[in-house]
Amino acid sequence: MEGDLHTLKGLAVSLGAMDPVGKEEINRIITDINEENKFMKIGFADNADWMGSNPDDDYYSVPVRNREDQPLGLLYATNPDDILRNMIDETVLSGVLVTEILDQNGMVVAGNAGTKDQEKVREVISKGSQLPFPMDSQGNRQQMAVLIPLEINNWYVLSVFPQSGKRDRHIETGIGALILLSSGLFLYFFCRQYKSINENQEALLELANRDSLTGCRNFPAFKKEAERVIREENILSYAVWYCDIKKFKFINDILGYEEGDRILSSIADLFRDYGEEEALFCRVSADNFAGLHKYETREEMRSWFHNLVEFFQSRELPSYKTITIELCMGVYCMEENDRDLSIERIVNRANIAQKHVKSQPGNQFGFYNKEIRNKVVYESELESEIDRAIRNREFKPFIQPKISIQKGNRIAGGEVLVRWENPRKGTIPPGLFIPLMERDGKIVKLDRYMFEVACQWLNSYLKTGREPVNLAVNVSKIGMLRDDFVDFYGRVKEKYQIPDGLLELEFTETVMLNDDAVFSSLVSRLHKKGFVCSLDDFGSGYSSLNLLKNLPIDVLKLDIMFFRKSTDIKRERIVISNIINMAKELQIRTIAEGVEYVETVDFLTSAGCDVIQGYVFAKPMPIEAFDEMLLKKKGEALIPEDIRV
Ligand code: C2E
Ligand code: CA
Ligand code: CA
Repeated sequence: MEGDLHTLKGLAVSLGAMDPVGKEEINRIITDINEENKFMKIGFADNADWMGSNPDDDYYSVPVRNREDQPLGLLYATNPDDILRNMIDETVLSGVLVTEILDQNGMVVAGNAGTKDQEKVREVISKGSQLPFPMDSQGNRQQMAVLIPLEINNWYVLSVFPQSGKRDRHIETGIGALILLSSGLFLYFFCRQYKSINENQEALLELANRDSLTGCRNFPAFKKEAERVIREENILSYAVWYCDIKKFKFINDILGYEEGDRILSSIADLFRDYGEEEALFCRVSADNFAGLHKYETREEMRSWFHNLVEFFQSRELPSYKTITIELCMGVYCMEENDRDLSIERIVNRANIAQKHVKSQPGNQFGFYNKEIRNKVVYESELESEIDRAIRNREFKPFIQPKISIQKGNRIAGGEVLVRWENPRKGTIPPGLFIPLMERDGKIVKLDRYMFEVACQWLNSYLKTGREPVNLAVNVSKIGMLRDDFVDFYGRVKEKYQIPDGLLELEFTETVMLNDDAVFSSLVSRLHKKGFVCSLDDFGSGYSSLNLLKNLPIDVLKLDIMFFRKSTDIKRERIVISNIINMAKELQIRTIAEGVEYVETVDFLTSAGCDVIQGYVFAKPMPIEAFDEMLLKKKGEALIPEDIRV
């Protein structure tokens, strides 16, 4: 047991060092260990669980603390009762004595509970006596008992034996047996402890190096080994690869996490089988793997990847027969002066190269190069300028008109789209800086600012008595999840006295995928405050139809650009018409976005689409230009113009 306690402490330190580590991950590791270890059963309770449990249930526990020394929970261990009992019974006493192991408070650690007179036991413990003493049994029959200290954790062996006519002989046999028992137990524990510490240390080492899900190396172990290779060998012949399994989230969503985990495990096996003996790779996180590869030319490295793809395709694993695994790999080729770079930074470069090609369809492969490097530099420059730009009001709202095609091509309103007017770099489109702002949450501030500016303009516009227009703003995912989200938007709407039905909030599909119950309740609260809610970029995700079934949204924005990827225009139109019809039946209005050609306008008009927002009518423009356009066109029909010409 003392050995077990050592193991427990070691395990607690390892788990704490893995921080951030979730309860699920800890439990998975523990399950593995429990399967290997028949002497002790380990459990984990996080801070919340532990509050609700009875500390008497468990015999020993150690705290798990993260690197900041904050408690994550407790690891506790129990030895299955029967192990000790069998041991005790078989070793010495078979049937003559009732034996228990007690702690210094007289509480049973193991053995047959129910025969003890705890008061008495405590009294004897406090006296430190090792002589037999009388003890009452449940039926008030007198029994004799002996307490022998065990040299472990201040525990005692309590032995009780019935008092009979042959009392003296029993006592003699009993005491003799007890001495044998305690020394026997001590020896046994001593040997086992020695063995178990060694075994457990090996297990801990193994645990520290392995990824518990796939069994392949984990990142810290990879790092150690890769650093050694780079130190000792010719750095120029090595490249680091980073591989992402495309659409893995989709696999998880469709097949469930359990199946997803199984697939990840098979993928790790494939990497192992494909590589030469002892290929050096690891799972970095989730569905991302990284490795070190020895290569001669870049061409060879590229064909190594293509062969890997073929290898993946040739192995039809039963679990993903119907799903094609697509790989996206980025590679960083080491240079002479990279010896001082950390493995993290090198792997990060391979990852950046991977991200660079990820958006293209199919299996993808790309090297880290100058262009990517410049992009990273540019992005970090932008990132460092964001705070200043917010302060200096460099973010400007542009508006792209929305045209009501069933009501004589009139301007129904517009969508507010942000532009960054950077004093040195010129106008920067949102695609370049919004992803950066999403990373650190600054997007929430920007979205709220855009919304307030839009309300300000709408307020002054409405005051002139002109025909009301609808204005839509984008809401980022993190913004929607803020506690004061509905309150903030409601408050600003009130402050500028905007009537109900004129302000529209656009949410992207991905925002809702994870938790449509949360989203539904947000939408109903927004409805109560007079907002229109729309689902943006419909068709670019994958569970769109399912979403429609559950979400109480008012407007569906179809991304026509997305549909344009299809090659068969007839089929494409069948799909679009049917989505529009379905939306109509659900009383959801439709907006087609990204429309560039007059013929698409004609088709959408006949298909019953309500609104078009696209270059075919107008591009996004400064708010003043939009105001002017409204004034000039005042209820007039706009004429669509092909952008092809
Ligand atoms: P989105 O919300 O889907 O906005 C529509 C995008 O499509 C706009 O790009 C718009 O200029 C473009 N577009 C509209 N019609 C056409 C067309 O006919 N052809 C082509 N090629 N493009 C068209 P933009 O302004 O670059 O915005 C890109 C994305 O950035 C937006 O996509 C939106 O997701 C995001 N965004 C823009 N402003 C904000 C904002 O204030 N907050 C947040 N959270 N996101 C914003
Ligand atoms: Ca939008
Ligand atoms: Ca959109």
